[in-house]
Amino acid sequence: MFDALASPHHFLREMIGPTAHDPALKDYEQWWEQEGRAISDSVDRGGTPWLRMFDAAGKRVDEILYPPDYWRMLKQGYRAGVLWRAFEQDSLLPAFLLIYLTSFYDSGLSCPYTVSLSTALPLAKYGDDRLKERFLPKLLRQNDEVWQGATWMTEIKGGSDLGASVETLAVRDGDMWRLTGDKYFASNAGAELAVAAARPQGGPLGVRGLALYLLPRWRSDGELNYTIRRLKDKIATRSVPTGEVELRESEAYLLGGAEEGIYLILEVLNVSRVANSLGSVALAQRTLADALGFAQTRIAFGKRILDHPLLRRQFEERLQGLRQCFALAWQASQLLNEVWKERRPYSERYHLFRLLAHLAKYWTAEFAAQTAKWGMEVHGGLGVLEEFRVERWLREAMILAIWEGTAHRQLLDALEVIERKQAHHLLLAFAEQGGACPDLRQITQEIDQHLGLSAEQREFRWEPLGRRLAQTTAAALLDALPGKHKTAQGNF
Ligand SMILES: Cc1cc2nc3c(=O)[nH]c(=O)nc-3n(C[C@H](O)[C@H](O)[C@H](O)COP(=O)(O)OP(=O)(O)OC[C@H]3O[C@@H](n4cnc5c(N)ncnc54)[C@H](O)[C@@H]3O)c2cc1C
Repeated sequence: MFDALASPHHFLREMIGPTAHDPALKDYEQWWEQEGRAISDSVDRGGTPWLRMFDAAGKRVDEILYPPDYWRMLKQGYRAGVLWRAFEQDSLLPAFLLIYLTSFYDSGLSCPYTVSLSTALPLAKYGDDRLKERFLPKLLRQNDEVWQGATWMTEIKGGSDLGASVETLAVRDGDMWRLTGDKYFASNAGAELAVAAARPQGGPLGVRGLALYLLPRWRSDGELNYTIRRLKDKIATRSVPTGEVELRESEAYLLGGAEEGIYLILEVLNVSRVANSLGSVALAQRTLADALGFAQTRIAFGKRILDHPLLRRQFEERLQGLRQCFALAWQASQLLNEVWKERRPYSERYHLFRLLAHLAKYWTAEFAAQTAKWGMEVHGGLGVLEEFRVERWLREAMILAIWEGTAHRQLLDALEVIERKQAHHLLLAFAEQGGACPDLRQITQEIDQHLGLSAEQREFRWEPLGRRLAQTTAAALLDALPGKHKTAQGNF
């Protein structure tokens, strides 16, 4: 059991069985063990990188200065195939597996990979041939010249209610657009390409007036197309620079139709939510592995703390929770892989995916945060010391729960797709393909009753039911996974 917990690749094999991606995952894990771990630790301890705004000649350059090893760590994942494999193999799964592995070692670093994927996918799906030819090959490079992407929606007034808070204005200029506004939480600042939400001039208010644009780092004349006002000094995810970005008549290209922009924005966010779910599970695995390593050697009352029945039971419950969360996140990834090329009107399968993605983002992040807190308690007082690392996992977990939409947002979006598309029935039918799921059937009936309440009461009373739905779905989906986990020992 310890082997499987201490190695993300072993854990993946235990959960989903052998795959064609095993050699790449094995190599990538080996690199992390030999080099990546130490680089990741030092980047976290080093804190916020330096934003070098001007070069020696006084020209605005907005360069982000990490130690050189950071760039080696970052490029390693791109070389391993976190972007190019998805396109070469026409499957998102190798990208998601690599993101899982990355997150076990450094959950902040999976952000650049995720947002780059979330840039490449809408470009491939909605970009015209000229845009695709110009930009896509640069994102899919297999060497260190690879370009990175970013997804910038949030502005100063808030990230949950984009319809009210996005004030960036887009004005048409021939076959391109000019964007003016400020993005307040812009992760992977410095990326060569970004997708950004903006409001086309004269469009309606609210979410229906938003569109999605592709924004290069450099203008056609070679000058900077956006500037970075400052970098955020964050508690964690220090291996991705998050900045405030200024757009001033920045050149941009419309993706899809302006009137369908909000759907494109949600598609982008849903890719990131799935990746975040896998990242949360990987972080929980890491915490559990570290807690186990500690509990196997720490002695209290004459024996290893792991051998005390109360604690051993907690370990077993955490392990089962981890497997269930993995099942939830993995099924969301597989469904996304099936439906990501769909356009409106979306199929029932897409609505099922949406419900699963919200439940997965919500519950895996909650589980990661709870597990990180528990992992610190297992370490006792030592857990609060930086040298024991578990304090880092708690800091990282808190961010996973907030970005890509908070728990509140996921719960409410899950309720919305249930109300509008009866997605809970789609979920039950999906889960029961693998056999009867009496607990999920019971909750489905309770949700049917819940939908008879007034709108105010539906929202007010939703959280406990939504939480049970997420947990019960996770448990039901675990049985459907093909890996060896069913026969693996649950005890330590
Ligand atoms: C490190 C980091 C990096 C980030 N990077 C990016 C990025 O690259 N691109 C990007 O676009 N954004 C990014 N974000 C922003 C992130 O997506 C937002 O923080 C998140 O969506 C929440 O928005 P907010 O912080 O503005 O909170 P608000 O929207 O102001 O919400 C405040 C609180 O109110 C709650 N709330 C809001 N509406 C409701 C409701 N209807 N019912 C109940 N509760 C509600 C929220 O859940 C939250 O708890 C990043 C954030 C962080 C922390």
